[in-house]
Amino acid sequence: MTKQQDYVLQTIEERDIKFVRCWFTDVLGTLKSVVLAPAEVEGAFAEGIGFDGSTIEGLTRRSESDMLLHPDPSTFQILSWSMDDATGRMFCDLSTPDNQPAMADPRQVLRRTLERAAKLGFTCQIHPEVEFYILKSNELVDGKPVPVDDAGYFDNISGGIAHRFRGRAVRMLEELGISVEYTHHEGGPGQNEIDLRYADALTMADNLMTVRTVVHEVAAELGVHATFMPKPNADWPGSGMHCHISLFEGETNAFYEAGAQHQLSITGRRFIAGMLRHAREISAITNQSVNSYKRLWGGDEAPSWVCWGHNNSSALIRVPTYKPDKPRSARVEYRAIDTVANPYLAFAVMLEAGLRGIEGEYEVPEEIDGDLRDLSARERKVLGYESLPGSLDEAIAACEQSELVASTLGEQLFDYFLNNKRAEWEAYRTQVTDFELRSGLNR
Ligand code: GLN
Ligand code: MG
Ligand code: MG
Ligand code: MG
Repeated sequence: MTKQQDYVLQTIEERDIKFVRCWFTDVLGTLKSVVLAPAEVEGAFAEGIGFDGSTIEGLTRRSESDMLLHPDPSTFQILSWSMDDATGRMFCDLSTPDNQPAMADPRQVLRRTLERAAKLGFTCQIHPEVEFYILKSNELVDGKPVPVDDAGYFDNISGGIAHRFRGRAVRMLEELGISVEYTHHEGGPGQNEIDLRYADALTMADNLMTVRTVVHEVAAELGVHATFMPKPNADWPGSGMHCHISLFEGETNAFYEAGAQHQLSITGRRFIAGMLRHAREISAITNQSVNSYKRLWGGDEAPSWVCWGHNNSSALIRVPTYKPDKPRSARVEYRAIDTVANPYLAFAVMLEAGLRGIEGEYEVPEEIDGDLRDLSARERKVLGYESLPGSLDEAIAACEQSELVASTLGEQLFDYFLNNKRAEWEAYRTQVTDFELRSGLNR
């Protein structure tokens, strides 16, 4: 028994915990859980919890369906919103019955990539900006979702629900040990943002699974509906999840160099170059739904082209301004990713792309200055700015060819993911949409 495991058992006893939820994430990023009686936790630490993995999408091949869940004691927290008996939760790692890490466990995919980063001397910190809409319910009126307010960017609305919603979410998150840096109303009606304080990439992926859960719990409490859907209405800005990323070598921020352009080190420049070069092929992972591509093509500060810039909100990658006397905050912001991504897989491929830039000493292209949307398609082409995939179909085509994604995810998970996404695209493309009916019926 390790010290942390001991601590969990002790807390369960002292706080009279009645249930322990064991959380894990499937390939597509859905949170799953199995609930343990407190008396079972000690055994779960020692031997794992056996279950049939074949019923969870993408986790196993049919022939090797038995799996074990291993609760990670460092993630133990008490769920404050549970109305009934005191409930704790832990994230789990998945293994085969002979205790080999499960190939298709998203948490292990990220662990493997972080180990690779560690071999190169780096740890990775991430701070995400989580955007979402608060709607009156999940029902549509005239085919559209109905937001809880009509406010906009940074609006302070008295009497509306947004403050109460965000305040409640922040309190729950803080109680679970997740620090929130700030929250605000976003640009769309009913759209809000929660900015988490940076943490190492694995903790942050866990935190994001918790944030999604908490946001849905608060919505249920307040009788409204929250959605992370990237583009719930063509007329509103999309919801993204810009991620601020930095690499550290020990206590030193590897992206910082005093006096360099934007105080950005050569390592930081190469990391950007890696993310740019591989952006198209990782899109299916960072932006995994049909709807994700409606956001990436809708303007409203969501990126559409592969380029970088300083403080430029039309760029895919932005180097934000920070106080030069705060080297810890040197970072690059990757702006394509949205909140329906599986955060473990998305962080793994984003990090791998950057690491390849560092290892391969990629040269960063010239930064852009101004808004690429102001140029014509021809001008952009002449200047060599590629677009991000315009649809899930295009994203899948780029991903299929990707040695980077295949090796980061592992063949089994890679194949499953692509098959699942092809099926999503097929289901979508065989629809006859409103647009077609409106433009075609009178022909
Ligand atoms: N909602 C925008 C997006 O989808 C971001 C807006 C912002 O935070 N500047 O990326
Ligand atoms: Mg923000
Ligand atoms: Mg925002
Ligand atoms: Mg941002």
